[in-house]
Amino acid sequence: MLQQIGRDTGVVFNIQKFSVHDGPGIRTLVFLKGCPLRCQWCSNPESHSLIPEVLYSNTKCITTAECGYCQQACKTGAITESEGKIAINRDLCTNCGDCAEACPALALEVCGARMTVDEVLDRVEEDSIFYTRSGGGITLSGGEPLVQADFAAELLKEAKQRGMDTAIETTGFSDWENIAKVLKYVDTLHFDIKCMDSEKHKKHTGVSNEKILDNFKRICAEFPGKTIVVRTPVIPGFNDTEEDILAVVDFLRNITRPVEYELMGYHRFGEGKYAALGKTYPLSGVASLDNERLVVLEKLIKLKGAVTMIPSVIKMVKKRRLQYEQHGRL
Ligand code: SF4
Ligand code: SF4
Repeated sequence: MLQQIGRDTGVVFNIQKFSVHDGPGIRTLVFLKGCPLRCQWCSNPESHSLIPEVLYSNTKCITTAECGYCQQACKTGAITESEGKIAINRDLCTNCGDCAEACPALALEVCGARMTVDEVLDRVEEDSIFYTRSGGGITLSGGEPLVQADFAAELLKEAKQRGMDTAIETTGFSDWENIAKVLKYVDTLHFDIKCMDSEKHKKHTGVSNEKILDNFKRICAEFPGKTIVVRTPVIPGFNDTEEDILAVVDFLRNITRPVEYELMGYHRFGEGKYAALGKTYPLSGVASLDNERLVVLEKLIKLKGAVTMIPSVIKMVKKRRLQYEQHGRL
C-alpha cells in the first residue's frame, strides 16, 4: 500500500467543498492522511496514520444479535461481540474494509483512500465556476500535507496548470526539502505557531518547536511573494494566557515582512472520532474556549500593533461549527 504512494498517488481522507475561511474566496479542501504531531486537541485523529483505517460508530450499529455481518466478513477474526455491539482488535485488523462493505447500517467505514492527482483535481474542478467568481481554489490540509510532499507538490503544480489558486495548511514540522518542493506552487500559506515555549509545545503536541520556528523564518526569507497567515489554536491549559499569545506576537513583530495572524478557538467537535478509532480523547473534560476569551486576546494583539489580525474570530468559530454539523468534519 505505502509503496504505491508517491508523486502521482496519495492517501486522501476527505474532500470538502465550499469552504470560505481556508484561503481567499470559495475553496475545496483536500485532506491528506499522515501527521508527525499528536496535538492533544486534534479534531482529526483519523488523519494521524498514513494508512486508511476503519472507523466504527457504536450508535449506528444494529447489534450483533440482529446483524453480525461484519463478523462473518472479517477474515482475520478482528471483530468480536461486546455487550451486544462489536469490538475491533486493532492489532488483528488489516484495514481491508471487508466489514464496512458488509455493514448494512453504515456503522463501519474505511477512512482514507488512494487517489491519483487527476482523480483529486477532477473532483476539485467540479466547482471551478465558484473559484472563478470568488477568487477561490484548492487548499491542502490534513493531517500534515507535507508528510506526502511529493504528492502535494504534484497536486498543486497541476492545480496551477489548471488555473486554480492554491493554498496549504501546515504545522511547519517538516524537512526543508519538502517545504521548498511544495511552496513553489502555493499562493497562500497557513502556518501554525502554537506556542513559543518549546517544552510546553513538546508536552502538548509531541514535538518541540525549534524546527517549526526555523522553517517559518526561512520561508519568510526565501519566499517573499507568498501570502502568509499564521494561526494559533487557543487551547485552555496550554496556550490561552496573555503571556503565551503575546510571545507569538513578539516573534511575529521581529519578522521583517508582513504576515496576517489568526486565533482559532478550541472546540471538542472531534471527540467522537477518537471512540470510533478505539482511542481515548486526551482532553476529555476540558470545555470549549469561550468566544469572549478570544475577543479579549484579539483586542490585546491589536493594542500591541504591528501584526495584521484577521477579524471576526467569533464568526469563524460559528462557521466552523456549522461546517461540522453539515459535514461531520472540520
Ligand atoms: S477492516 Fe478487515 S480486518 Fe479489519 S475488522 Fe474489518 S474486515 Fe476485519
Ligand atoms: S455489520 Fe454493522 S450493524 Fe451489523 S453488527 Fe457489524 S457494525 Fe453492527
